[in-house]
Amino acid sequence: MLAQVSDPISMVVKQTGDVRLHTFVSSFEYSNIANATHIVETANQLVLVDSQFLVPYARAFRDYADSLGKPIKRLYLSHRHPDHWFGTGAAFADTPIYALPETMKFIQEHGEDSRSDHWKLGDLVPDQIVVPGEVASLGEETIDGVRYLFDRVTDTEIDVTLTIRLPELGVYFAQDLIYSGTHLYLSEDLGHWIRVLQDMLLTDYELFMPGHGLPADKNEVARNIEYLNAAQQAIGNGVTDEAFKEFMLQRYPERKCPGIFDIYLPRLFGGASSY
Ligand SMILES: [Zn+2]
Repeated sequence: MLAQVSDPISMVVKQTGDVRLHTFVSSFEYSNIANATHIVETANQLVLVDSQFLVPYARAFRDYADSLGKPIKRLYLSHRHPDHWFGTGAAFADTPIYALPETMKFIQEHGEDSRSDHWKLGDLVPDQIVVPGEVASLGEETIDGVRYLFDRVTDTEIDVTLTIRLPELGVYFAQDLIYSGTHLYLSEDLGHWIRVLQDMLLTDYELFMPGHGLPADKNEVARNIEYLNAAQQAIGNGVTDEAFKEFMLQRYPERKCPGIFDIYLPRLFGGASSY
């Protein structure tokens, strides 16, 4: 199926003093998966989180960032799934790109494979790969007056992911640890992912920025745990492939973007490559 493009959503999510937090979400329609990318706007500059998937959304996200009239000082990539970094090639080749070493290495070694693996998307896929040039350092850093906490989280939706927290603002960039209002992309180790989300519920953070869908609260984090528990139980009962998809669609009719099943089912149950 050829992907179709429709209007993205952009919004100011929160404003505190000099800091404005923006989110930009690609379409929930057709086979789109509501990729969510974000901007921390401070007095003098912008920090971006992820770069969109398909070319038109990456360019629209760039236009939105440029409309704020401040330089993009950093763009952080959360993890190696291409729906989070394809857009760098289309719209952010001139931007300093930060990522964990594992993510950099994957894009360096498999970025082109990933691009050719998505040939069916035609010119919605960027015509070049940009390998991140800057290692995201872990721990605490103050950028343009805002305190950031960077962490490396393993064995959840992906083997390695970067999380970014703004403790003074109560904002947690969880990216694909949370799918907000959409179906989740399931990996093999759901148990550890569930434990990571349970810990998240016990923090003081209030606003959770997902990798897919609209900004989330703790109730949505709890709903993600419930979804993962249901999936884990079904898989434990031997439900696979189309039957698994049917089961989850029936159990969660309110969740959007069922296109995600077609992306991960061949990998989860059929051993397909993860490019
Ligand atoms: Zn994703």
